[in-house]
Amino acid sequence: MTERSTDRDYDAIVIGAGFSGLAILHHLREIGLRTVVLDGEDGVGGTWHVNRYPGVRTDSEYSYYSYSFSKEVREEWNWTERYPSGGEVLAYLNFVADRLDLRRDIRLNTRVEAARYDEAANTWVVETADGERLTTKYLVSGMGVLAEAVYPAIPGIDDFQGEKYHTARWPREGVDLSGKRVGLIGVGASGIQIVPAVAAQAEEFFVFQRTPNFVVETNNDAVSDRDLEWLRANYDAVYEKAANHPFGVAMEPAEHSALEVSPEERRRIFESKWNEGGFHFANECFNDLATNHEASELASEFIRSKIAEIVTDPATAELLSPRSYSFNGKRVPTGHGYYSAFNREHVHLVDTASTPITAITERGVRVGDTEYELDVLIFATGFDAMTGTLTKIDIVGRGGRTLRDKWAEDGLKSNLGINANGFPNFFMSLGPQTPYSNLVVPIQLGAQWLQRALAWAEANDVEYFEATPESEDWWREETEQAGRGTVMYSEGKKAKAWFLGENIPGKPEEFQVYMGGGQVYQRYCRELEESGYAALLHRAAEPTSADAA
Ligand code: NAP
Repeated sequence: MTERSTDRDYDAIVIGAGFSGLAILHHLREIGLRTVVLDGEDGVGGTWHVNRYPGVRTDSEYSYYSYSFSKEVREEWNWTERYPSGGEVLAYLNFVADRLDLRRDIRLNTRVEAARYDEAANTWVVETADGERLTTKYLVSGMGVLAEAVYPAIPGIDDFQGEKYHTARWPREGVDLSGKRVGLIGVGASGIQIVPAVAAQAEEFFVFQRTPNFVVETNNDAVSDRDLEWLRANYDAVYEKAANHPFGVAMEPAEHSALEVSPEERRRIFESKWNEGGFHFANECFNDLATNHEASELASEFIRSKIAEIVTDPATAELLSPRSYSFNGKRVPTGHGYYSAFNREHVHLVDTASTPITAITERGVRVGDTEYELDVLIFATGFDAMTGTLTKIDIVGRGGRTLRDKWAEDGLKSNLGINANGFPNFFMSLGPQTPYSNLVVPIQLGAQWLQRALAWAEANDVEYFEATPESEDWWREETEQAGRGTVMYSEGKKAKAWFLGENIPGKPEEFQVYMGGGQVYQRYCRELEESGYAALLHRAAEPTSADAA
């Protein structure tokens, strides 16, 4: 094995102390790499550290929204809700950080502003906001995929004199909404979670909706001691099931097409999975809701019928029913009393599709000629997804070229979302073109893949891994092809979905995620490994073989 260069401060620097960063630190430490995690926040948890809006909780169930790699964590952590609250997930990640003794290698309040590859020294130089420069052989991004919050380009946005919050930057001390007139812009997965929680507190609540969503309502339950006992006995099987599912959920993939059963049978199946709630509806009814437009339209019609059942005012029910695109055109959001919140007298749905928001004023939001006066304005307006965190800072590879410029000039390119040509020894956890999935599964499998890859690199005197141009072309083509066959493409374009980049004005339409299935993606990762990482350029000091690992 190569002598580690003590000229560098670290063997690996990981940016971000969320689900990715914690898993990667643990796995790289296990192979003896001197690793540090840098995070600009004052606590671990990443997404869950900053998204503290009322109602925030997981959309996936506790049993597979967690790491499976640590026996100690599995045995000792007790989940309390089937869909854990954001606070519970944050407590879990803090528990993981303590139990695996990760904190001694995590530097908080350390914001990375740039990272530059020094070609002559084969070293990354990481620059922090405090002007510190740290050197490392391997640079790993765990910066998060839905982390670069965006505000809408509405005139007057800075004029508002009341309180103003983005869901992704909610104040830690909370916000007292009682007795207040509150406005919400945005009804994606974040807005949908916040609606019932704000409705329970605010005096008057105005929900400004441009595009309605197909919300799958969810039954949350307490997790019993028996549930936990069962999970502890079956953790590996649950995890394997999730890893083998296209969307990373521990569910049996549905076997039948929505088109091959009678209308009565279809309604019965939709009804039973609707009652089970959440992603069970999306994943367990039929096998073609994401691939066949007609099937997706049948699911849409069922959800519209549910909206009409739940929402008492027919005009409001109709406004809440998407008509311009069908089910799966947006990332399916789960609800916890979303539709029924609109039955409360002080909750008002304002349709900004027919009459757009014209301005944000000092006092509120103007829709057409009507000004809605507000004390608090909440933005649940989403993220520059997948690429936003990576292009916001300067990641500078060979020849002084940034990742931002590479993707702007050449299109979105990577090898399996893990590496990029021109950026030697730079790795991404959940980089663009990784699976559209419950993210904890690809995070954990990715950390384990990286552990084996870097152990092999170290054992074989590999100076650097770098995606070949051919591997990037292949993966871009595969990503686009896999995506274009889905409803997410035809309907996502209409719905301006973030997974196509459509939610950000000027962002090119490209698949930001791999729609071909998490299990297919993992097979490609295994093949790359079994090939001796052939699609990653590497240079050995002495001739060796993969067998030497
Ligand atoms: P989002 O899905 O991108 O939704 C943004 C919302 O803001 C949309 O309703 C959009 O309307 C609206 N909007 C944006 N610009 C606007 C403008 N100028 N005028 C009016 N409305 C505007 O963002 P998100 O809800 O934060 O969710 C993003 C992703 O984060 C989710 O898809 C999910 O993957 C993840 N997430 C996960 C969880 C969880 O697992 N628990 C929770 C929350 C979020 P249009 O649709 O008309 O553009």
